[in-house]
Amino acid sequence: MIEIFDGHNDTVHRLLEYRPDGIDFLTRSSDGHLDLPRALDGGLIGGLFAMFVHPEQRPTDNLTVTKTGYQVRLADALDASYARRRTNGMLDALKNLEARAEGKVRIATSVEEIKAARGAGSFAIVLHMEGADAIDTDMVELENLYHDGLRSLGLVWSRPNIFGHGVPFAWPSSPDTGPGLTSAGRDLVKACNWLRIMIDVSHLNEKGFWDVARLSDAPLVATHSCAHAICSSTRNLTDRQLDAIRASDGVVGVNFSVKNVRPDAEDNADTPLHMLARHFRYLVDRIGIERVAIGSDFDGTIVPAAIKDASGLQNVIAALLASGFDEDSIRKIAFDNWMRVFQLTWRG
Ligand code: ZN
Repeated sequence: MIEIFDGHNDTVHRLLEYRPDGIDFLTRSSDGHLDLPRALDGGLIGGLFAMFVHPEQRPTDNLTVTKTGYQVRLADALDASYARRRTNGMLDALKNLEARAEGKVRIATSVEEIKAARGAGSFAIVLHMEGADAIDTDMVELENLYHDGLRSLGLVWSRPNIFGHGVPFAWPSSPDTGPGLTSAGRDLVKACNWLRIMIDVSHLNEKGFWDVARLSDAPLVATHSCAHAICSSTRNLTDRQLDAIRASDGVVGVNFSVKNVRPDAEDNADTPLHMLARHFRYLVDRIGIERVAIGSDFDGTIVPAAIKDASGLQNVIAALLASGFDEDSIRKIAFDNWMRVFQLTWRG
């Protein structure tokens, strides 16, 4: 079995057991995509776990579907103190999970710790934040989160905050949907560079992407995105963006989300895995075998029924083999490339 490290999941909010869809993580669950038993069945030995703050109220009437595509109205900004409270709740839930897991789950803050967890048969969680909504312009919260183990940060989710503007979900559409980073956003890039926190450009609009590309001294990373040339949704990366990622020696984690995989952007789980493999092939041809990885988006989206959940991850490996990748290349995609870019970014 080929071991996998995954660049993105949204399982953290399910660790809050009081939620209706709350899970224990250590025991098998039958809904959602990810828990420890299913991870181990699929060869998943760790991943970036996103702390994502849901809006206080679920938006309604925000989707417009036309004959030629769809558009989702850009979500509203969050109240910062609300975002901070919710982020601290998720951080507590993750620490609580590590404490009760009796060594089966460890929060890792370096490549060495990820590899040590792998050697000990422990599942490695790397803390990621999907949107900097909980962080202040004085960066005190960023430093606190770093000391709590945060190693990866998406400046925005698909909504605005004081640092920048996310892309609204739309297809077909360019990701060039709004202004670039604010001056606080430019400071945040520098602060992340200084602390050696990885910056994630998934969900950032195109002008924001170019600001990060210009300012950051670290490789450019998109934890869960696909190729815009195949599926022209705002969440996917254009060829120019991919070329910048290659030039910076960064990584793209391929998103399993069917609406970002399928050329017709349909939210249809009946999506054959050769369509997913096509993104891997396209990206490898464009940016190189060292720069493509996996970013499942488990528990955050609809994935192909042929994967179903984390237990089906080896079906992705089989699809990559079937599409002509050799085992050495697949090991890079499945594990080594994330370690390579972590090493370059975290310097340790
Ligand atoms: Zn996302």
